[in-house]
Amino acid sequence: MNARVVDAQGRTLSPCPAERALALVARGKAELVSQEPLTIRLCRAVELPQPEPERPPLQGQRLLLHVCCAPCATYSARRLQEQGAEVMAFWYNPNVHPFSEHERRRESLAHYATEVGLPVVWEPGYDMVAFLRRVVSHERPGERCAICYDMRLERTAQRAAELGMDAICTTLLISPYQDQALINQVGQAAAARHGVSFYFENLRRGFAEHHRLAHEHGLYRQDYCGCIYSEWEAQHKRRANTTHTPVEE
Ligand code: SF4
Repeated sequence: MNARVVDAQGRTLSPCPAERALALVARGKAELVSQEPLTIRLCRAVELPQPEPERPPLQGQRLLLHVCCAPCATYSARRLQEQGAEVMAFWYNPNVHPFSEHERRRESLAHYATEVGLPVVWEPGYDMVAFLRRVVSHERPGERCAICYDMRLERTAQRAAELGMDAICTTLLISPYQDQALINQVGQAAAARHGVSFYFENLRRGFAEHHRLAHEHGLYRQDYCGCIYSEWEAQHKRRANTTHTPVEE
């Protein structure tokens, strides 16, 4: 039979065999609280082991964060830093059309990164031709987005490996307009090809906060995803919502 044991502060400890409990009472190390059920109280307080503090999932990891635009970088970079990562942003968005829009988004990120001290790796050039060549004949939204994710995350993983970093992630995960499951699948595959890991987290829970931060920092906020197709689709939708004039397809 086991005895119930509490310490001097009344905290329940592991039970011990009845004979041992009674021996402690006999030696004056404990007092008998009750016979039925057999319960003793130790004369001293016992130091209980403290649970290990939870380790952030990205503790000690160097992470290259693909950034689609400055507003999406606000909450995402901060959240990943809170998760323990040393974050470096990565700019590579050949999908953004036209070039003036690409530059406007790039400059907005440069402005924000300087303000908050976020280091950025800038991929030189503008691979718009390569992007368009890849999506031709795959223009439907889901299909072309898979190619778009792959192009950007493949380059992110490649640069992360070259820089000796541990993991990659993308700010695309904050947008409710993007396909998170597909991003995760494409990101995992790209990371595996280059020997780094892809960190997935539902960053959408910070979507409202990212709007607040973008406003606070006066960042440029675009009104379409990026590619020429998405710009046309957004215009089409706006016109359909504001007028009853049919739009030619
Ligand atoms: S809609 Fe956005 S994610 Fe999809 S192809 Fe265009 S830019 Fe890329």
